[in-house]
Formats: sequence, C-alpha cells, structure tokens
Amino acid sequence: MYKWIIVGGGIQGCTIAVQLLQAGKVSTQELLIIDPYSRPMHKWLSLTEKIGMTYLRSPFVHHMDTRPFALKDFAEKNDYTKPFLGRYKRPQLQLFNDHCKSLFDQLHITKSWHQATVRQLKSVGTNAWSVETDQNTFTTERVVLAMGVNDNPYWPGWAIEAKSHYPKKVSHLFTENSPPPSSVCVVGGGLTAAHMAVLLCENPGVEKVTLIKRHDFRVHDFDSDPGWLGPKYLNNYHKIISLPERRATIKEARNRGSIPREMFLKLKRLEADGSLKCIDDEIQDVSTHLANPLLHFKRNQSESFEGIYLATGSAQGLPEEIWLKHVIDRESLQCADCGFPIVTKQLEWKKGLHVAGPLAELEIGPVSRNISGARKAAAILSSISI
Ligand SMILES: Cc1cc2nc3c(=O)[nH]c(=O)nc-3n(C[C@H](O)[C@H](O)[C@H](O)COP(=O)(O)OP(=O)(O)OC[C@H]3O[C@@H](n4cnc5c(N)ncnc54)[C@H](O)[C@@H]3O)c2cc1C
Repeated sequence: MYKWIIVGGGIQGCTIAVQLLQAGKVSTQELLIIDPYSRPMHKWLSLTEKIGMTYLRSPFVHHMDTRPFALKDFAEKNDYTKPFLGRYKRPQLQLFNDHCKSLFDQLHITKSWHQATVRQLKSVGTNAWSVETDQNTFTTERVVLAMGVNDNPYWPGWAIEAKSHYPKKVSHLFTENSPPPSSVCVVGGGLTAAHMAVLLCENPGVEKVTLIKRHDFRVHDFDSDPGWLGPKYLNNYHKIISLPERRATIKEARNRGSIPREMFLKLKRLEADGSLKCIDDEIQDVSTHLANPLLHFKRNQSESFEGIYLATGSAQGLPEEIWLKHVIDRESLQCADCGFPIVTKQLEWKKGLHVAGPLAELEIGPVSRNISGARKAAAILSSISI
C-alpha cells in the first residue's frame, strides 16, 4: 500500500511530490504519481514550447522547491545568461524547467512515476483508497487529485463547426500540433494567444498573422493581484462563508484574458510595423463551403484563413468531470453550487482524499491554478502528519 498517490503529474502534482519528498513525509517507494504521459510536466513543457514562451509570467520565487530563493541560487550556480526579466524577476522558461528537472533527478521522482490514466477511485474501509487506472489498481492511505484543466480545451460553437469541415485547418493550442500555413489567425485575448501570435510573426513561412480577440488588450502584470498570495486579501477571503460569494470573488479577482505590459508593447510594435493585424470582435459564425473557413464577425467584414489556432483556454467545469462525477456520487463528496469541492483547510474532501489546483480553488483562492497555488497546496499537504 502506498502512503500517497498523486493523480496528475503536471506543475501541481510535481510540486506536491517534490515538497512531500523534501519534507521527508514519504519515500519514493511510498509515493506514486500517476499521469498519462511518460515525463513529468508534459503538458506544460509541450504547450510553452509550442507557443515560443521564453519567460514565465510569475516572479522568481514561484517554483517547485520548498526554499523560496532556490531558483535564484540555481541560476547563479549554473551561470545562466539573462536568468530573470524585469522588475518582478520573471524566470527564463529554460531555467525554470532545468530547475524542475534537477529537483526531479535529485529526488529520484521517476521511481515514483507511473504512466497511466486514472479511471476510478473508491474508498476502502475508513483508512484507504483504491485508485484504478486503465492498467492496474493501487491502494493508498492518501490521494491527491491534481488533474489540471489544460486537457480540457474550450471550443466555441463556430469552431466545432469549422473543425468538422476542416479537421487539419482548425486546432486548439492546448491539444494539437499543426504546422502553420501562410495565412493564419489566432483566436483569444490572453497570454497564450499573444505568445503564439508573436511566434507566428517571427516565422518567415507565415505571410499573414491575425489576432482575433473579443476585447481591447487587458494589461495586467499578473493574472491576479499579488495581494492574493498572502494575508492582504486571503484573510478576508477566508472569512467568506458563502461559497457562491467565494466563487464570485475568485472570478472578479482573476485577470482573465490579460497580458503583461512587455507583451502588450511587443504586440503593439508588431501591429505598427504591419506584421500583425488585430481584430477586436466576436466571431459569430463560419461558412464552410469554400476551400478555407470564412469567419463572420459581429461588426467587421468576414475574413477567411488557411489556418485557425484557438487559444480560448479551458472549458469551465471540473477537470476529468466524467469519472469524477461518479466518485462524487458514490463517496457522497460535498460540492458547492459551482460544482467544485468543498474541502477543509488541509484540502481534504473526505478522509484521505485531497485536492490541488483548480479543484482546491474555493479554499486556496484565485491563485490556486498557478505555481504559487501549487506551492500553497504542497506546503499544506506536506504539513499533514501521518
Ligand atoms: C501558456 C501558459 C503559461 C502559463 N504561465 C504561468 C506562469 O508563468 N506562472 C504561473 O504561476 N502559472 C502559469 N500558467 C498557469 C499554470 O501554472 C499552468 O497551466 C500549469 O501547467 C498548470 O498545471 P497543472 O498541474 O494544474 O495542469 P497540467 O499541466 O495540465 O497537468 C495535469 C496533469 O494531470 C494529468 N491528468 C489529467 N487527468 C488524469 C487522469 N485521469 N489520470 C492521470 N493523470 C491525469 C494530465 O494529463 C496532465 O499531465 C500558465 C498557463 C499557460 C497555459
């Protein structure tokens, strides 16, 4: 029997694994990380590479190690050039990834890695859980559900229609890899869309790049105010008893579809020199009788593109909703009106069953999905004594 099983080996799951091991709460033999991919953080690594991201949005103290200055020390020791950017010292992506890899190597995380997909979860008596994958069944004292939302892309209705007629010309950045044709649009107003648009503008094989977004650029350094990282806002947040009010607070606090100033300036420069066209409008419909999809806007004239990249984020709702709903019913797990778990301060949903990332949002607050949220979850879980 394992002590801890972590479902999902993305940033959330790996941060928890690292900090449980660093705290000596578990050995690699007592820990299992179950994830469908062969390597830790696969979704993060492939998505950030695909969009050509070079620096993180979050500051240098947001990383996997328990020690706040570990990333800075790692950068100095290994002599990185331009390791951090700007006044918030955003880390270089390569540096961040190398640091994660070095932690995984030091802690022998691969010994705890199991490539599979979890399909079922059942309590066994009062002190154990049985975790069923597409291959095996394992038992454990504690489980952490750390499935992210990046596996669950949001497809607007018009895009589903377009995809059914042009399967190779329409793709979502969260799931597919498709080479860019010469005239391409990116749909979305957030940082993923912005990175992709910049990358396409730098690609000599692409002649025309259009960024389609529903609103003006929203410029914010972070995707929520740094006050949400500590007591400044969290003290009041934790006093909110009404869960719909907590959900509304999270929604208001998150700067969805926003970009930091340096990215805004980069896009403005590309627009000014004619490399990038921006359309601020809503796509209402698509015509599918031509060689390429023809997009119809609310206000602007219709335009066709040889390729469409969706950067429309993830669908609302629980990660892995289908099997998780069965678990919720069978185990009588409590959920708020928004469908998300009601958990204790130890992020415990039921005895021995814990959550992290989006699933821990109502407890951790607006930063829960980010690296800082992963650090908070990891700190809480590694302080539990078993
Ligand atoms: C482009 C981009 C840039 C970002 N930059 C930053 C940043 O600079 N700073 C910051 O703090 N945050 C950033 N974020 C937000 C967030 O930190 C990332 O999205 C991060 O990858 C989320 O990690 P995760 O572990 O929740 O999800 P994921 O990376 O999606 O990992 C979850 C894992 O769980 C697996 N899983 C799902 N279902 C199952 C199952 N049934 N069984 C087993 N495994 C399963 C998935 O396959 C996946 O491997 C960024 C997000 C994006 C999209």
